[in-house]
Amino acid sequence: MTSFPTPSPDAPRSLSILGATGSIGTQTLEVVRLFPDQFDVHALACGGNVELLAEQAREFQPEHVAVGDAERADDLRAALDDGSVTVHVGEEGLCRVATHPTVDVVVGAVVGFAGLAPVLAALREDKQVALANKETLVVAGPLVQAALAEGEGNLLPVDSEHSAIFQCLSGESSDNVEQVVLTASGGPFRTRSADTFDAITVDEALDHPNWSMGAKITIDSATMMNKGLEVIEARWLFDLAPEEIEVLVHPQSIVHSMVSFRDGAVKAQLGVPDMKVPIQYALSYPARWPAPHERLDWTTLGRLDFETPDLNKFPCLRHAYDALERGGSAPAVLNAANEAAVDQFLRERISFPDIPRLVGEALASVPIVSDPVLDDLYAADARSRKHVQELLGAPSN
Ligand code: NAD
Ligand code: MG
Repeated sequence: MTSFPTPSPDAPRSLSILGATGSIGTQTLEVVRLFPDQFDVHALACGGNVELLAEQAREFQPEHVAVGDAERADDLRAALDDGSVTVHVGEEGLCRVATHPTVDVVVGAVVGFAGLAPVLAALREDKQVALANKETLVVAGPLVQAALAEGEGNLLPVDSEHSAIFQCLSGESSDNVEQVVLTASGGPFRTRSADTFDAITVDEALDHPNWSMGAKITIDSATMMNKGLEVIEARWLFDLAPEEIEVLVHPQSIVHSMVSFRDGAVKAQLGVPDMKVPIQYALSYPARWPAPHERLDWTTLGRLDFETPDLNKFPCLRHAYDALERGGSAPAVLNAANEAAVDQFLRERISFPDIPRLVGEALASVPIVSDPVLDDLYAADARSRKHVQELLGAPSN
């Protein structure tokens, strides 16, 4: 099992929040607002939403900001009326704000492959990383593990299932773990007939029953690719074998995940579906800070249901297990094809069942490199995206 840090609970943490304008980023800032004495927001970074980033900068007064989309850098400079904030640009800019010497904790909340470089850079500079960006572990799990093993950096999970597993594993020896069970809501199409999946609209797919999240992860939840990515995330985060990781559909999203042990005992972590709870725990660990987040009401809970996922209806989950089994650059190919396909679906250019079809075809065709270094993973990502574009007949560049 990966070893986790025991930071001083009282020292204010200097934060760099990557993906500050997104669903996780804005909820991280809500947690910061609850505990202003615990944090000093040193840096905020986004992709292209410079209007919101500028507003956040006015409130939280960071010394540095970064914008991934270089074309929006001038707009950001113009929106920041105060010249005391340094503006960084592009992937390099993100890496700079993730590695600044004064930063203690980096919140990795960029969506997709774009989040990988700054998270790896932060770990290599011995930062503590509160990681929401699961794609980092999907694409580069072994490199993240190596960075953790070689340096003093730490990783704490923000993803609710992984936060749950982390809490269940607390105080336990990895030898005693029999199985980790990741729960999945099943998304909006759990009970819909697969015969009608062709007709699924973007609005229907974006209408998640339990969680309010960014667009990409919401579509991933609808295809159940999100759970596939989370299986790979758990494999690297907790150093588990693929067969030790089970997925169970749990439509109420109250049990966030569980761990069963070799004596037959099972631990689960429960709560109202609210990402602020795991975000806060990743920032307060090992302390638990009193917070006004919504409580579970046992009297109105009613029932908790569990069922096995239907891999025929949701082939993305099977593709993720396949990619994990094949190893090397296969998960990077899976991830890139999925990002490209989800993007096309959100633009209403392909149908919902095209997403697993394109991911499967990319995995079958793009050459897999074993033991990839970072450059190989960038190449695998680019090839896989190109392959999807070619399958769709779009000009590739
Ligand atoms: P989101 O789309 O709401 O926000 C994404 C953020 O990343 C935005 O701030 C955006 O500006 C930034 N970004 C995008 N491309 C960028 C680039 N090239 N350079 C710099 N910044 C860029 O996404 P989200 O829902 O907040 O998810 C963020 C990550 O957290 C994802 O990896 C997701 O899987 C994971 N996650 C999210 C939730 C959730 O409840 N939203 C739960 C668990 C895990
Ligand atoms: Mg999750």
